[in-house]
Amino acid sequence: MSMAISLLGSTGSIGRQTLEAAELLGIRVRALGCDTNLRLLEEQTRKFRPAIVAVNDEDACRDFKARVRDIDVRVVEGTEGLIEAARVPEADAVVTAVVGTAGLFPTLAAAEMGRRIALANKETLVCAGELVMACARDHNSEIIPVDSEHSALFQCLNKEPREGVKNLILTASGGPFRGKGKEELTDVTPEMALRHPNWSMGKKVTIDSATMMNKGLEVIEASHLFSIPPERIKVVVHPQSIVHSMVEYNDNSVIAQLSLPDMRLPIQYALTWPDRRQSLVPELDMTKLSALTFAAPDTDAFPCLALAMDTARVRGTACAVLNAANEAAVDLFLRGKLSFYGIYESVCAALEHIGNIPDPTLEDIVTADILAKSYVYERYKT
Ligand code: MG
Repeated sequence: MSMAISLLGSTGSIGRQTLEAAELLGIRVRALGCDTNLRLLEEQTRKFRPAIVAVNDEDACRDFKARVRDIDVRVVEGTEGLIEAARVPEADAVVTAVVGTAGLFPTLAAAEMGRRIALANKETLVCAGELVMACARDHNSEIIPVDSEHSALFQCLNKEPREGVKNLILTASGGPFRGKGKEELTDVTPEMALRHPNWSMGKKVTIDSATMMNKGLEVIEASHLFSIPPERIKVVVHPQSIVHSMVEYNDNSVIAQLSLPDMRLPIQYALTWPDRRQSLVPELDMTKLSALTFAAPDTDAFPCLALAMDTARVRGTACAVLNAANEAAVDLFLRGKLSFYGIYESVCAALEHIGNIPDPTLEDIVTADILAKSYVYERYKT
């Protein structure tokens, strides 16, 4: 297979694992994009020799140009730079692994080019799902999910007629605080929340996993990806993270996808689909599994989950507000400026304060994103 990719968000957890898969499978890397980890980006640039490297931050971009002066690479800056990286010639697929709403415009650019999108940036679909899916449809761009649950659903839905689908069932590990009550969680610190039992991920998604906001965002993501109304998407807590999600059909048959919790599998599958290739993920030895358990989520201790699932039913800018307010609140929590439940309270306040616009344009969504973030940052100040 002679495939080439553009990788946006190359220095994060998904980005690094994508490069591992690229090396294993002989996939060429035509473009890289990242935020500020210049040392690693330089290493990646020297190793994979992309044509374009996008650096989000202006100062970092200048520094980076100086670092790679001796090699033939075009270094570009900011969102425009990420868009250019998404459009790099000769790439078959674009891996969107940047964090947060920064992924929106590069993802749209990739869709407009009709490229395969290996989507690892759930915020893009959460805030602008209808617009992004419509853009991809119009340009015959395949969106293949990288998120492990959505990759599982994609695999379980494979070639089945959509009319036969009764419910999608997303599994949740429950995060580091599974089984804990509200009182125990009031004073948790970022350090405690960052200790995820099963998955090694970036900071934003690890905190989202601790509040279970992540699972709520995934419900919204799944409803757009698979055109299933949010009412028909269920969440079950499955602490072992072996069953990555399930599809329940009208005859009550349930199809599940199982594997060890290792992101290299869904990353690689998004690139090689419909082919299955050898991977670095170890075999799942069923005889060594002690148990697979499933339980209803505790929305009292984890109110962000119920909030996101309720917001999923509101069409318009509400999901963009939820997503942006959460992004700002998680940032404040990580900096020790907001309590654990302060995240939930901030998102609720933003949703109450910022009015919903039904059938939004891209501009409405971008405005809602900015308003929600500044509302949360301002609210914390007072
Ligand atoms: Mg996930």
